[in-house]
Amino acid sequence: MQTGKIGVTTENIFPIIKKFLYSDHEIFLRELISNAVDATQKLRTIASVGDYKEEMGNTTIFVSVDKKKKTIKVSDSGIGMTEEELDKYLNQIAFSSANDFLDKYKEQSNSIIGHFGLGFYSSFMVSDKVEVITKSYQDGAKAVKWTCDGSPEFTIEESEKESRGTDIILHIDKDSKEFLEENRVEQLLKKYCKFLPVEIAFGKEKEWKDGKMVDTGKDKILNNTKPAWTLKPADLKDEDYQKFYRELYPAGEESLFNIHLNVDYPFKLTGILYFPKIRSNIEIQKNKIQLYCNQVFVTDSVEGIVPEFLTLLHGVLDSPDIPLNVSRSYLQSDSNVKKISSHITKKVADRLNDIFKNNREEFEKKWDNLKLFIEYGMITEEKFYEKVSKFALLKNTEDKFFTYEEYEKIIKENQTDKNKTLIYLYSTNKTDQYTYIEKAKSKGYDVLHLDGQLDVHLINHLETKLKDSRFVRVDSDVIEKIIQKEESRESKLSADKQDDLKSVFNVKSKSRDIFNVVFETLDETESPVTITQSEFMRRMKEMSQMGGGMNFYGELPDSYNLVVNPNHKLVIGISDDLYAVKSTELSAKDTERKRLREEIDFMEKEHKEKKSEEISQVEKDDLEKLRKELSDIENARKEILESYGSGNKVVKQLIDLAMLANNMLRGEELSTFVKRSVDLL
Ligand code: ADP
Repeated sequence: MQTGKIGVTTENIFPIIKKFLYSDHEIFLRELISNAVDATQKLRTIASVGDYKEEMGNTTIFVSVDKKKKTIKVSDSGIGMTEEELDKYLNQIAFSSANDFLDKYKEQSNSIIGHFGLGFYSSFMVSDKVEVITKSYQDGAKAVKWTCDGSPEFTIEESEKESRGTDIILHIDKDSKEFLEENRVEQLLKKYCKFLPVEIAFGKEKEWKDGKMVDTGKDKILNNTKPAWTLKPADLKDEDYQKFYRELYPAGEESLFNIHLNVDYPFKLTGILYFPKIRSNIEIQKNKIQLYCNQVFVTDSVEGIVPEFLTLLHGVLDSPDIPLNVSRSYLQSDSNVKKISSHITKKVADRLNDIFKNNREEFEKKWDNLKLFIEYGMITEEKFYEKVSKFALLKNTEDKFFTYEEYEKIIKENQTDKNKTLIYLYSTNKTDQYTYIEKAKSKGYDVLHLDGQLDVHLINHLETKLKDSRFVRVDSDVIEKIIQKEESRESKLSADKQDDLKSVFNVKSKSRDIFNVVFETLDETESPVTITQSEFMRRMKEMSQMGGGMNFYGELPDSYNLVVNPNHKLVIGISDDLYAVKSTELSAKDTERKRLREEIDFMEKEHKEKKSEEISQVEKDDLEKLRKELSDIENARKEILESYGSGNKVVKQLIDLAMLANNMLRGEELSTFVKRSVDLL
C-alpha cells in the first residue's frame, strides 16, 4: 500500500473547491460520466487499431445510488488505469488542473461556466470521501484502489476487480443529500447526458404488472447515443429532423425548417438549428439553443456565443472549440467564437436564400412566421442584412409579396414626390385605416401592410439603407401631402377667410383638444375634413412604447391634425354662411381692427427710423396700449367665430365624420353624432 500527499501546498483545497463551485455542484456527475465516456471511447479506438484483442463486451456506463450507504457509483468498462496511471492522472495532473482552475478563478471573480478541466476533482464538491477502483485493459493488469477523504492525503492499494474499467464511488456528504434521490440523479443524467455517445444506464425499466410497477430486469438506458446532428445529412429525412426536434422540445410546435451544420475547419462545429414559428413576443422565444461539447450538454444560454437574433432559433450546437471554462465577456472577444458566430449567421442567411430561390411560394407561405426573426437579424447584424435584404419580403395590403428590389420598381414612377424622395406608403391596420388606404389606392398608389412587432424599427433601418426613400403611414397626412407632386392648386378661400375658419373649426370638446386645425388646398372632390397624425411623432411614440429609449416622446399626449379642404363646397358654404350670419358683429370689429392695425403700422415705422433712446416713454406706452387693444379685438373676433363654430351643426358633423373615418368617434360623442345626423335628415 502506498500513501502520499497530493502535490499542492494549500492544506485544505477541497473546502475551497466546494465553496468556489457552489452554484454548480451538480456538474460533478457530468464530469465523472464524461470521463467514463472518454475511457470507453479510448478503448474503442485502441481496439479499432488492433491493440486490444479481447471482447469489448457491454460498454454501458452504469450509474447507481445507494441511499443506505449514502453513495453514488459510476462504473465504466473503458481502458481503466494502472497504478502508475492512477498516480499520474489523479494525483499529479488532475490535481494540478484543479489548482489551475483556482488560480484562474481568482482573476475572473465570478462568471464561470462549464468547469471542464477540473473534471474528476469536482466530485469533492459533494463527497467527503471518493474511492476509485480501476483495472487497466492491459494484459495482466492488477486492480487498484485509490481513496481520498477530502484532505490532500490519499491512499493507493491493491484491490479486487473482475473486469477492466473503472468504478468511482462517491460518499455523499451531509450537505449534498439531494444527490441521493433517484429522481434528482435521473434529472441530472437527462440534462447532461441525453446525447452521450456511450449508453448510460440508471436502474431498470419498469412495467405495469398485476396492479403495480415492477422492474423488468432490463437496464434503463437514458440517452440517445446517435443524435441526429452527429449523423450525415444525406442519411436523414425530413421526418428524422422533426423527430429529433420533438426529442429536444417535447412540448414544442413543429418547426418550419432546419439547417444542419457541419464544419471541420478552421474550427469544429456540428449541430442542427431549427426555425421555429415566431409570431410575437420575442423574449419568451429566446434561449432554446442547447450547447454541447462532444455531445456533453454544457448550457442552454448561448448569448455571447451566437449573435443575439440567432438565440431565437432552436436546436443544438456542438463544438469542442468553444472555450467553456471562461467568462462570458471573454467569450465575446474569443476569435473562435467570433468565427463560429459569423459562420452560423452566414449559413442561416444561405439557407433562407436557398428556400427563396428554390421555392418562393413556400417561402412566402412561411414569411409571416419567419419575418420577426429575419427582421431582428437585419436590424441587429449588418452582415445578415447584406445577404438577406436581397430576398426579404414586403407584403402589401392585398397580401402580395415583393422583394425590396421588386417593390421599388413597382412604386418608383408613381410614388416619387417632387423632391425626388420615394415614398413607401404603409398601413398597420387594414380595418382601422381603411379609408386612407382606399384614398391612396384611388391615386394608383400601393400600400404595404406592416403590422409586425419590429416593423417600426425595420423601417427606421430601411430609411438609412434605401436611398432617398421614406416610409409614411397612410393616415399621417392627406395623401396629396404625403406624396407631393409639382402641381399647385389655387385655393378658393383667401388667406384671411381661412384664418377665420380656423377658429370656426376649433371646436372645443374633451377629445378635440388634441386637434390642431390646418388648411390643405385639395381638389374640390376630396374630403372636406380629414384627421391625420404626424408620422414622426407617432413613430417616436411607438418606439418609446417598445423601449426604444425615446421616453420623452412616449410621455407626450397624442396629437392630431384636423385638415380642412378650403375647396370643398361644404367648407366654402360654411365660410359664406359665417359672413352672412355674423356680418354686423364682425364688421364692427373689422373696422376697429383695421384702424388699430394702421395706427400700429404707422408708429412702428416711425420707431424704426429712430434710435431706441430717442423714443420717449410716452410713445412706447402708446404703442403698447394700441397693441393690447388690437389683441383684445382679435380675441373678441375669435370668440365670435368660435361661438359660431360650436353652434354650427355642419361644422360639427364634418369633424365627427372625419373622426368616424379614423375610428375615433366613441361613447358620448358617437351618440351625439347619431342624434345630430337624424336631426339633419
Ligand atoms: P480531464 O478529464 O479534463 O483530463 P480529469 O480530472 O477529469 O481531467 O481526469 C484526469 C485524468 O484521469 C483523465 O485525463 C484520465 O486520463 C483519467 N481518468 C479519469 N477518469 C477516468 C476513468 N473513468 N477511466 C479511465 N481514466 C480516467
